[in-house]
Parts: sequence; C-alpha cells; structure tokens
Amino acid sequence: MLTDYHVHLRPDEPGTPAERHFTAENAERYREVAAERGIEELGVAEHVYRFTAALDVWQHPLWVQSAQDDLDRYCDFVRDETDLKLGIEADFVPGREERMRELLEERDFDFVVGSIHFLAEGALDYDKYDVWNSGRSADHIWRTYFTWLGELAATGMYDILAHPDLVKHWGREQRPWPEKDLRFYYDLAMEQIAESGIAIEVSTAGLRKPVGEIYPDAAFLEMIVDAGNPIALSSDAHTPDQLGYEYDKALELLDAVGITELAVFDRRARRLEPIG
Ligand SMILES: [Zn+2]
Ligand SMILES: [Zn+2]
Repeated sequence: MLTDYHVHLRPDEPGTPAERHFTAENAERYREVAAERGIEELGVAEHVYRFTAALDVWQHPLWVQSAQDDLDRYCDFVRDETDLKLGIEADFVPGREERMRELLEERDFDFVVGSIHFLAEGALDYDKYDVWNSGRSADHIWRTYFTWLGELAATGMYDILAHPDLVKHWGREQRPWPEKDLRFYYDLAMEQIAESGIAIEVSTAGLRKPVGEIYPDAAFLEMIVDAGNPIALSSDAHTPDQLGYEYDKALELLDAVGITELAVFDRRARRLEPIG
C-alpha cells in the first residue's frame, strides 16, 4: 500500500476558485495519476484558511485574503462526488485551539493534517510575510518552531503532523541557519510527539523547495522511529503531476530507518498497512 493524503486540488495562488477545482473531473485526474503511480490511498487536505469558517479562528491578513470558499460545500463535494478520502490541512494557532477544535469536530473528516506555517504573524514558507524579517536569530526561530510543534501534537486535535521540519524551507543559503546540532531542536518537541502518538508525515514536498530535502530529515525521523510514532507518506501535491512526487527517495529513506508500515485513515480511525 502507498498513500498520498496531503493533496491539494488546486495551487495556492489566488484565482483558483472552488468552482473550477472542486469538480468530479478534477478529482478523477488526480485519481488517474495516482493509479498510474501505484497510490491506492488518496486523500485531499485543502488549506483550512481558504474557507470562510477559518476566520472565526484567526484573521491573519493571508487568511482574510484567502478565505473565499464554504467548508461544508467542500466536505459534501468530496463525499458525494469523489472516491477520495476527506481531509483538511489545519494550522496550529496557539491561543485559538478551541475554536479550531470546534471547526474540525463539527465535520466528519477521515483525517486532519496539522501544520505550522506561521510563527505569530511571520510565515515560514511564504516570503510575503517572512518570519525571517523579524530580526530574530535562527536559534530563536527554530526553538519557537519546535516548541510549538510539540504543543500541536499535545492538543490531540490532529491525526498527522505535516512537513515536520518546515522551518528549514528556505535552506542554508537563503536564510540564517542554526549553529547547534539540529537534534537539540527536535528534542524540544519529541516528548509531546511521543506521548501523543500522532502520525508523522514524511513529505517529499521539501524536495521541490529551496532546501531540497525531504521533510523531516533523517536524524529527526530516526528519533520519531525510536519514539514509535506511525508514519504517513505524502507529496503535498498541488497538481496531479505532483502526486507521489519522488516517492522512490522517500521509500529509500523509510527503508533506511526501518519503517515497513504506513498509517491509513478512515473517519479518523487509524490502522497500519505494509508499504508496497
Ligand atoms: Zn503545509
Ligand atoms: Zn499542504
């Protein structure tokens, strides 16, 4: 079994309205490419902030600008017009956990992908609101990111922890990089990750980003394997051709750290299936 659960039915850019992308034909394009690449378990996880309901949770300028679509219409579309698993990519916004929890619990998702894209107002992977303009050191930004990552896991609101070391998005050349061994930062999150049992995403999206590496890196993944958390494999595709992106590299990494099973979700119940 191969999975791709962290999939978007449209690019992040504005001008990609639901009417054009939340269609049975578009879902079928994704299903066809997934089938060609041996991916049976396919699920979609649209960004929560593209739905108006997210404005009850947070009103970051990007969210205000992006919140155009109706969340219940998206859920009905995936359930009624596609054979895809129904997921959502929901940010962890400290202080707004209860509002986000309500939004998530009111719908019958198969899985919820939890992400940190922002540290307060600053974005980790979007230069328009760049967190690195804050003047904070790499040590401060990495510490904050991994402290929050542990808190995300501890909420119990999320089934999958997305792109676990997204803070490295820009790579060593384009932004400051910490001097410490990176395991120091991973350690800040590990106790809560281990206790929560949350599934950890291995995402090939990082290979398409300036850093040019899988999320998470091998040292972090080894710590996760020692902790015993299950693994969810995804590409974070935003177009059909990105499905299963460079999965051969991900499978090599999984094999190297001794992972033989992947997490599979159904109405927020999890089971493990052998990789293959
Ligand atoms: Zn994301
Ligand atoms: Zn995503």
